[in-house]
Amino acid sequence: MILLSFILQGCQKNETVNNEIIIIFRLDDYSPFSHTHTEIQIFESFAKHSYKLNLAVIPFTNNDNQHSLSAEDYSLDSIKENLLKEYQQRQIIEIALHGYNHKAIDYNKTYLTEFKDLDYELQYNRINIGKSYLEGIIEEPINIFVPPWNSYDKNTILALSNSGFTILSADTQGEYLKNNDIAYIPFTCELYQLKDLINKIENSAQSRPACIIALFHPTDYFSTYDAAKHTDTKSLDSLLTYIRSKNNIRVMTLNEYMVQQNELSYSRLKYNTKIHNLKEYLPPFLNENLYYQYYSEKDRYIFRQILLKLSLYYIVLFVVSIFLYISSLKLVKLLFLKIKISEKNLEYLLKLYRLILGISSLILVIYAVHDFDINYRGLSVLIFMSGIIISLFTIKPRLKNLNNKSTAY
Ligand SMILES: [Zn+2]
Repeated sequence: MILLSFILQGCQKNETVNNEIIIIFRLDDYSPFSHTHTEIQIFESFAKHSYKLNLAVIPFTNNDNQHSLSAEDYSLDSIKENLLKEYQQRQIIEIALHGYNHKAIDYNKTYLTEFKDLDYELQYNRINIGKSYLEGIIEEPINIFVPPWNSYDKNTILALSNSGFTILSADTQGEYLKNNDIAYIPFTCELYQLKDLINKIENSAQSRPACIIALFHPTDYFSTYDAAKHTDTKSLDSLLTYIRSKNNIRVMTLNEYMVQQNELSYSRLKYNTKIHNLKEYLPPFLNENLYYQYYSEKDRYIFRQILLKLSLYYIVLFVVSIFLYISSLKLVKLLFLKIKISEKNLEYLLKLYRLILGISSLILVIYAVHDFDINYRGLSVLIFMSGIIISLFTIKPRLKNLNNKSTAY
């Protein structure tokens, strides 16, 4: 562990530009159905601390989970429209379009999406009807799009480009178009992870400014929905007070961040997708939530750090599996010798033991890779069992000098 931390420190960049942490808050799912009272409480908390947040608004809905556009769809009521106008004018919210009606194309699919795999024209229509409606309310152009379930495809980006959008805020693992001016600013963590993440960044030697985009929903206020994500007015207020007490933290909106950042093209999203995919293979005790940030492409050391942690973890696992195989052989032999078995029978029994071990290892390997969706658990089983299988072929039990137990495997 000492060696590991020493090597990892070596991987960190020592020159710290400044100690700034940039935070963007993204509240999703303001809709004809969402809880207005909770939303007013959230806006007022931000107003109290003189902070702004991004609000992703679903303009339309219907009562029957109907994805297709229909005359039955209805929009925000006048109370919700007036709230948007009021808080936009008071400069507390910056509005983003959050789909047309947030209804999935197919609720039986493995992933939920309103846009992915839909024809370009259909996507373009949904986006533009929503955009015109919201612009009609706030009387200002909308240039930020947040796809429902953070799910979109290349046609979505094209439709956004052709509709005057300049920011796409989805997930750190996302599609991109190369020859395009869209700025990609995905969410990086959930609101309940924010305080811990700030502390981790402050205690790390990583280069700054660090950028965090924290996502939350009005439903987080209702504990029955998801206990871990639960928040309330008091918790949000104390979080914002904590942030206010830090001189090195700057709260911004997506547009403000775009104005001060020129590094928001597809290549930054691509780099973050790479980090995100790689850290999926780290076991939880090595996969700190320190990684829940929107890394700059200059932060190359983060990628190297994760790669190094991965290599060390899987090498150690492989060596441990060989060691355990050798130890188990010794143990089995000692056990059989204790019951005074003949050398021939011992040979048979050891063969049987190795055969059972080989078959069970193979079954576990097949199980780990059967759906090709390998995470850290699957890869750990694969590496561990590979160590056992390789040992089975290369390290045979010595049957001579049985009395000399210390030299026999
Ligand atoms: Zn949503």
